[in-house]
Amino acid sequence: MELSTPLQYVKGIGPARAQMLAAKGLETVSDLLYYAPFRYEDRRNVKSISELAPGEKAAVLARIADAKLTNFRRRALGLFEATLEDGSGSRLSARWFHGERYADSLTPGTRVALFGKVELDRMRGLRVMVQPEVEILSEDDDEDETLHSGRVVAVYEAAGKISTRAFRKLIDRVLKEAPMPEDALPSSVRTRVGLPHLATAIRETHCPGPDASLALLNEFRTPAQTRLIFDEFFWLECGLTLKKTKARAATGISFEITERVRDQIKAMLPFKPTAAQKRVMQEIADDMKNPHPMNRLLQGDVGSGKTIVAAQAAIIAIENGYQAAVLAPTEILANQHFVYLKRLLDKLHYVVAPLTGAANAREKQQIKRLIADRYVHMVVGTHALLQSDVVFSKLGLVIIDEQHRFGVRQRLALMEKGAQPDVLVMTATPIPRTLALTLYGDLDVSTIDELPPGRKPIVTRHATQSQVEGVYSFLAQHIKAGRQAYVVYPIVEETETTATIKAAESMFEHLSSIVFPNVAVGLLHGRMRPEEKDDAMMRFKAGETKILVSTTVIEVGVDVPNASVIVIEQAERFGLAQLHQLRGRVGRGSHQSYCILVTSKLNDVGRERIRTLIDSNDGFHIAEMDMKLRGPGEFYGTKQSGIPGLRLADLMRDADILELARKEAQTLIASEENKEDVRAVVRYIQEHWQRRYALAQVG
Ligand code: ADP
Ligand code: MG
Repeated sequence: MELSTPLQYVKGIGPARAQMLAAKGLETVSDLLYYAPFRYEDRRNVKSISELAPGEKAAVLARIADAKLTNFRRRALGLFEATLEDGSGSRLSARWFHGERYADSLTPGTRVALFGKVELDRMRGLRVMVQPEVEILSEDDDEDETLHSGRVVAVYEAAGKISTRAFRKLIDRVLKEAPMPEDALPSSVRTRVGLPHLATAIRETHCPGPDASLALLNEFRTPAQTRLIFDEFFWLECGLTLKKTKARAATGISFEITERVRDQIKAMLPFKPTAAQKRVMQEIADDMKNPHPMNRLLQGDVGSGKTIVAAQAAIIAIENGYQAAVLAPTEILANQHFVYLKRLLDKLHYVVAPLTGAANAREKQQIKRLIADRYVHMVVGTHALLQSDVVFSKLGLVIIDEQHRFGVRQRLALMEKGAQPDVLVMTATPIPRTLALTLYGDLDVSTIDELPPGRKPIVTRHATQSQVEGVYSFLAQHIKAGRQAYVVYPIVEETETTATIKAAESMFEHLSSIVFPNVAVGLLHGRMRPEEKDDAMMRFKAGETKILVSTTVIEVGVDVPNASVIVIEQAERFGLAQLHQLRGRVGRGSHQSYCILVTSKLNDVGRERIRTLIDSNDGFHIAEMDMKLRGPGEFYGTKQSGIPGLRLADLMRDADILELARKEAQTLIASEENKEDVRAVVRYIQEHWQRRYALAQVG
């Protein structure tokens, strides 16, 4: 048996089972060795039925004497009850609520192993286990029961018909017969971190020793589990570091930061930057100065003031004779950035031009010519910027807003319009630094972790659909006081269909003619023509309309400081990060702002989301909760960033180990005296991890 042996040829597997295993991504002996349990059970306390004491947790091996399913008619609740005997003279009753699924398998005569807490049924003078764990023992029992009880046992996720018990048996066989994988972790790293050898780690993860701590096992923190988790992160981080080192070695533009550049930045700044803004400005300036291409992610919560930082980077580029391009995900946002940046940069007599799908063909033609002639210093636009006939004379800086809306390919498309331009991507969904560096592997990360002064935290409230009248009168009070408000419907721009648009439109009718007959109400959705959208936005900005009924087209970046209330209808249909983004549309001025989440039905996850928003205004915390509730795989950015399916490691749960692994990987690769180790690491990654981690050109 080799590590690479297909599972089909392992004794006890065969083609049918091999197929079930393959569906779980388990193809070779090595895959099986790395198939880690997701839970452990303490079955050290094996007793005969007559020895069982009420209150204790124990394991019992017994035969089913009698079994029946009772259905309660009024509630859809089946009680499955089995009576068991083991020759000790006493009987045990096992009961499962919702036990229908046992009716076919736990028939009289079946031998089973039960694990659970013992109770006493005083009425019947019987020992009972309620909802015990159960495993069916096979009849032709050649098997050694010590594998499944009398110890802390591993519980595996079943694969098709392959039960946790079958996994235990298969893995036991493989552990006995297969060679162990090569331990490629440099021993210097292993000893420094204090980790066991790989072979030990694999064995003990499957078969914990007699002294293993159940608590640590179930928290994935035994030395053995830590070693396996560390490995996954370590090789990933080594790969990322090598890849980045290579990218950094490329030649890019070395911008000069002269006295004049500094003066221009000072002249542009309309207010005193926060300490966090100053810090990231410095990081970006340093990056632009050095002769390698900048690839930097600027993350900061909604309203943290990223745009001004982008403007400052643009000044550096423009003063050095280069052009800057700003790419935004929607017309509305591109427009708003254009207006905002133009106002900032007009003072310096720079030429800022918009380029979106909204302009007519002649205008576009003209702007493109001006870009090609280097008459335009900065162009702000949407996807229209990516078209092949947009040619820059000297593109030096690419700024991409709301990076998760764009793929890597679009970033590259814009970069290719210059010669190794510097790139700054911005996101309003900040996540912990190490996680960001890992998810967005090719980017450096700058974080604005502070809001401009004077912001009042937004007050968030929850209302049910039946309380919506009260919500509307609350809204009316604010309109009366001179404020403005958003009412948002759960339609995502890309999925706006005729039917959903109709819903938004009829809601608009309802609000404008019945609920607020004397208030100017505007409507904004993604299916409107660009000039209609512009118009709706401009009228709201100018204060002509007081209420803007909108779909999620306003999700990103829209900035109207006088708007102080946002009502989000059917809030249960939005994700957490998205709700936070939407909420960020208010709280941009000096007035106390409110976000009201209206829901009709809520499940547990939905309730948790609402609670998180009511409790917190902190984008970091919210992003973290979002990942916890959805799982990082679903979290945006993750999918396109090419992070592979980690096997045992979990980006959220194991953030501390990720941190450690990243530090060790970087230290190793940067170290001069460990050249031999580094070469070995490169070889190992190329052989084993390249495909899994999609690390195109490592080393
Ligand atoms: P975001 O990070 O969400 O893109 P913006 O760049 O749109 O944030 O900034 C939000 C608002 O805060 C803008 O109106 C901006 O002018 C203002 N702002 C940014 N930085 C500061 C600061 N240091 N002091 C005062 N206001 C600021
Ligand atoms: Mg922004």
